[in-house]
Amino acid sequence: ESLPADKNLENSRRQVENAVFSYVSPKKTSNPKVLHVSKEMASELGITKEETKTDFFKNIVTGNEIYPETKPFAMCYAGHQFGNWAGQLGDGRAINLFEVEHKNKNWKVQLKGAGETPYSRTADGLAVLRSSIREYLCSEAMFYLGVSTTRALSLSLSGDQVLRDVLYNGNPAYEKGAIVARTAPSFLRFGNFEIFSSRNDVKNLKILTDYTIINHFSHLGNPSKETYISFFKEVSERTLHMIIDWQRVGFVHGVMNTDNMSILGLTIDFGPYGWLEGFDFGWTPNTTDRQNKRYRYGNQPNIGLWNLYQLANALYPLIEDAKPLEEILNNYKVDFEKQSFTMMKSKLGLFSVDKNDIELIQNLEDNLQLTETDMTIFFRNLSNLDEDSSSLKIVEDAFYNLEDISGEVKSRWNLWFQNYTERLQKETLSHAERKEKMDGVNPKYVLRNYMAQLAIDKADEGNYSLIEELFQLLKNPYKEQPESEKWFVKRPEWARNKVGCSM
Ligand code: AMP
Ligand code: MG
Ligand code: MG
Repeated sequence: ESLPADKNLENSRRQVENAVFSYVSPKKTSNPKVLHVSKEMASELGITKEETKTDFFKNIVTGNEIYPETKPFAMCYAGHQFGNWAGQLGDGRAINLFEVEHKNKNWKVQLKGAGETPYSRTADGLAVLRSSIREYLCSEAMFYLGVSTTRALSLSLSGDQVLRDVLYNGNPAYEKGAIVARTAPSFLRFGNFEIFSSRNDVKNLKILTDYTIINHFSHLGNPSKETYISFFKEVSERTLHMIIDWQRVGFVHGVMNTDNMSILGLTIDFGPYGWLEGFDFGWTPNTTDRQNKRYRYGNQPNIGLWNLYQLANALYPLIEDAKPLEEILNNYKVDFEKQSFTMMKSKLGLFSVDKNDIELIQNLEDNLQLTETDMTIFFRNLSNLDEDSSSLKIVEDAFYNLEDISGEVKSRWNLWFQNYTERLQKETLSHAERKEKMDGVNPKYVLRNYMAQLAIDKADEGNYSLIEELFQLLKNPYKEQPESEKWFVKRPEWARNKVGCSM
């Protein structure tokens, strides 16, 4: 290709045009060190524990060696960010290494933070230890919570320093560079489809959609107009299912841009995410979204729908009929109401039908927001209540400021518990049976924001033991772990308003 003479190509980046993906080489790092491996994920890939301890493994998961006969690449995609069309984005700091077939499953392995790609735009393609610990721990925690998610294989230090901020005194603030090897059956995003329709490139749009259907939705049949519709329907259902699970466990993604929406309905891109402490529909962990709070907890289901509209637009050229797409989008709204209701009922241990349940749940959600009330502790403790008692104790343990309980708040809770215990008497399950079911949907241990922060602070000092401790803890989020009660507590006061950073 001939290039314009006025461009200094050695020192400037140029926009990649019309690409689908680009071959890239991960950056060599100065002193790679594997800090943690998910043994379970490794075993899914057919990698033994011994193999994860080799230099070969270390070099592969830090990008210092390319697996023989593979060609790493970065994908081109587009996206809507914070409600606006952002145009071309792409894997700016993710590099696809290879796929692994094991036990009839196909996994893609990616490095995050292994250096720049043609899609890095103005950024460096690197990741710091702090954000990498957050991604590593949270993606595996989500998996064990039973939430559909991308996963993580390893967390490593690159040995290089990464510049993220400039301090007030003008000095550069360097941080430890890190690399996460992450895995998923596919890393395709809504944005991979949007890029082609934005270019009016129906040929590649069709190739990609057919590929996706054949490899990931083969049960829908051979690609055809009908299949494209049922494909969109299933993506819509999976997206909703994932978001209902987020609502259930109190996970707030924080950057639900369409480039962060997986076509398989997996949770992807663990950046500024956070976990609800106080139950609050208005809360977002993303400090850059504090004004509009577009990605707040209570808005996640709506945003899922908004993003599906963008995907519908992207797929439209293959379908050329808006009606079935609109019907699917309308169904999302209906299904959301239904599934959200069923999910909330399950958190309360209600399985039979009662006409007052909607009101009971509505009143609970109102009460939970009267004063800062810890979501995880409240719902977990709720299963200790039996039909014959009404107890404020449960909610008291979940309050952040006990003094906040005014007489009015107290009486509203008392009333709610009275209604709830009466309602429980209409259930057929025994208390023990109900408790077991409730404890299976209300996690005891989640990756509270301050827990990740503690692991980060220790890691900054070179102590990685808390990463292992939290990793083990979060493998059994629904189980009682008497030796770990210290993690079943409210956020300490120092951690108020402290959330992680996406970079
Ligand atoms: P995110 O908000 O994390 O989804 O990122 C949006 C876009 O910016 C994606 O295309 C990322 O690949 C890219 N990006 C984010 N951080 C970096 C970085 N440090 N270097 C290069 N690209 C980045
Ligand atoms: Mg992203
Ligand atoms: Mg990100």
